[in-house]
Amino acid sequence: MSIVKVALPVPKRQLFDYLSNGLEVPVGGRVRVSFANRTLVGVVMAHTDDSPWADKLKAVSEVLDEAPVLDEHWLTLARWLADYYLHPIGDVIHTLLPVALRKGASALPQDTECLALTPTGQQHCQDDLRRAPQQWRLIARLKDGPVALHTLREDISSAVIRACRDKGLVETTLQAYAVQSDWHAALTISDKPRPNTEQALAISAITRDLEAYTPVLLEGVTGSGKTEVYLQSIEAILKAGRQVLILVPEIGLTPQTVQRFQRRFGIDVGVLHSNLNDNQRLRVWQQARSGELGIVIGTRSAIFTPLAKPGMIIVDEEHDGSFKQQDGLRYHARDFAVVRAKMEGVPLILGTATPSLETLNNALQGRYQHLTLHARAGVATHTVQQVMDIKDQPLRVGIAPGLIERMRSHFAAGQQVMLFINRRGYAPALLCHHCGHIETCHRCERPFTVHKQLNKIQCHHCSAARPLPRQCGACGNDEIVPKGVGTEQLDAELASIFPHISRVRIDSDSVRGKSTLEEVLAAINEGRHQLLIGTQILSKGHHFPNVTLVVIVDADGALFSADFRAAEHLAQLITQLSGRAGRADKPGEMWLQTHHPGHPLLQDLLHNGYGHFARFALQERKAAGLPPFQYQVLIRAEATDARSPFAFLDELATLLRQQTDFQVLGPVPALMEKRQGRYRVQLLLQSTRRGVIQAWLATNMATFERLPSVRKVRWSIDVDPQDF
Ligand code: ADP
Ligand code: ZN
Repeated sequence: MSIVKVALPVPKRQLFDYLSNGLEVPVGGRVRVSFANRTLVGVVMAHTDDSPWADKLKAVSEVLDEAPVLDEHWLTLARWLADYYLHPIGDVIHTLLPVALRKGASALPQDTECLALTPTGQQHCQDDLRRAPQQWRLIARLKDGPVALHTLREDISSAVIRACRDKGLVETTLQAYAVQSDWHAALTISDKPRPNTEQALAISAITRDLEAYTPVLLEGVTGSGKTEVYLQSIEAILKAGRQVLILVPEIGLTPQTVQRFQRRFGIDVGVLHSNLNDNQRLRVWQQARSGELGIVIGTRSAIFTPLAKPGMIIVDEEHDGSFKQQDGLRYHARDFAVVRAKMEGVPLILGTATPSLETLNNALQGRYQHLTLHARAGVATHTVQQVMDIKDQPLRVGIAPGLIERMRSHFAAGQQVMLFINRRGYAPALLCHHCGHIETCHRCERPFTVHKQLNKIQCHHCSAARPLPRQCGACGNDEIVPKGVGTEQLDAELASIFPHISRVRIDSDSVRGKSTLEEVLAAINEGRHQLLIGTQILSKGHHFPNVTLVVIVDADGALFSADFRAAEHLAQLITQLSGRAGRADKPGEMWLQTHHPGHPLLQDLLHNGYGHFARFALQERKAAGLPPFQYQVLIRAEATDARSPFAFLDELATLLRQQTDFQVLGPVPALMEKRQGRYRVQLLLQSTRRGVIQAWLATNMATFERLPSVRKVRWSIDVDPQDF
């Protein structure tokens, strides 16, 4: 009997058997099957001749692929992910595939639907369409020949296309698909600067052996020339026709970055980010897989892009939190990049100004080669970092008078100033001055944030919103006041202090979509704004050469956080922010406002730099028995009632405590105890050997899933958790 074992996107840790009924189904190919009255798309993991349920098996409904969509290499990686992250294989497989393929779309490149001019359209000139400039724009685009519809749709509306079609000016044609993997023949290298000594050393270290897994930590501040090192290191790889995969953080992926690679080599660059539709993603996946793209740049999930001829993997800003997926398959794209590079036998570059303690430790242990770029390329200046003691100071919107004066003098010199505050909105809470009541989201038990311009209060944990109240929800008094400071309030208050200074606010409320952020950044670098007020967005990827003063309005929260990674993240933020500013002829200064100027973390960081801080922090982690010296696995459970998650995790903890190979801590409430109406509890497992935890959990998973208390909760496993 011919039976296939199928991975299906269901939360069960098993494969499902179906009869293949004589249909040819390759391992790694997709099938459609019926499962619990639904039709699902799954991937065949193996063939077999018998099954314990042989007489009850259903047949495969449809075979979707003649050739595997996931080859043996990717099936091996999928099994690795499932084992390492203790995640159901069906869902791992699902995560690896582009959404269009999960839904059953053809995996083969399709002929391209194009738009072409009709003979009438050929004869039209601008005058004929004087009253319809948008239509003329389309006609003009097509004068040189047909253009793919999906390309046109990026900047031409479907109404315009329809109008031209109705007038008989354009028609749809099909362009047959042909694989074009000869891009490396067309490779041209332009505008290549001479590397400085450190760059040259780095490039030669990286390119010494291009045929083997050689992991490198490339440490250098913004502007030290890391990207230039990437560019020159991949040259030989591209010339040999091999492909390069580059991962960047969520907001670090700018058109400028992509253009820089495109311009240097004169080839197409595949781009993968969250704003693409399913078809656009599928196209890049296909082109990368068939070897048609020399370079693919993308955010987190781009690490799953198959390459016909892998040549190198680069993870830029490797310390960035956006590389960790926070639900479903909770993978870390940087960590998986290491595994993938090893398995594919290719060099790996982890680049950053502020290495994560995990990566730094690997470098210090000699597992990665550690290369450093000290100087800013071409120039040599560093921002001076200082603390401002704000104890007892008469603050204005949270800013010390001395710094208001510093701002004034930087403005007077025609320079730009950047204020960083970690809170968007007008104020983080709304307080009744009469009874002390704070308007609170009952689903998350956290204060609502005040958004004055939008005239509402909103919960930043579940996005529930209400109109801005006029009276206290508890006592009815109308004296209710915003408490604390957010970007919107800073912006409004500074307008009255500096009425003649052009300000710009940069947070996720004021900047939506990629193009607006690009526009704002361009306006800043053209000098159209003098005062920049923003959140984390400011700390990533962008360089502001005319900013000479950076003020971090409030960092004290992180000094006393319950999250053991808070200090590391604060140090990274401070270092990244000060790296955004200044250049040779305009050195920058950075001020950190704090009530704890003597705090050892701040003192160490500001006097000795990130590298020193990080080594010291590693010693502390070691002494405290924390990652990267101990490995952690977090088991989370949540439910709408407070008792069920505890009941389940208590039972689990009892089972787990039967062994003595690893520690079991908890259960305890999560740092955020309630979120979106659900109570959250967690159990922490910790050991110096990650493998013993994974093995024990894998062996006993079936027992967990049979516990009666499991039915009342949602639960998940997070290996190497980043958030608690
Ligand atoms: P990073 O990626 O570390 O921020 P970049 O590679 O973007 O640094 O370099 C910063 C700036 O310096 C860029 O404008 C780049 O073109 C320029 N640059 C880098 N290396 C050199 C070099 N060796 N000679 C001249 N300019 C360089
Ligand atoms: Zn909420």
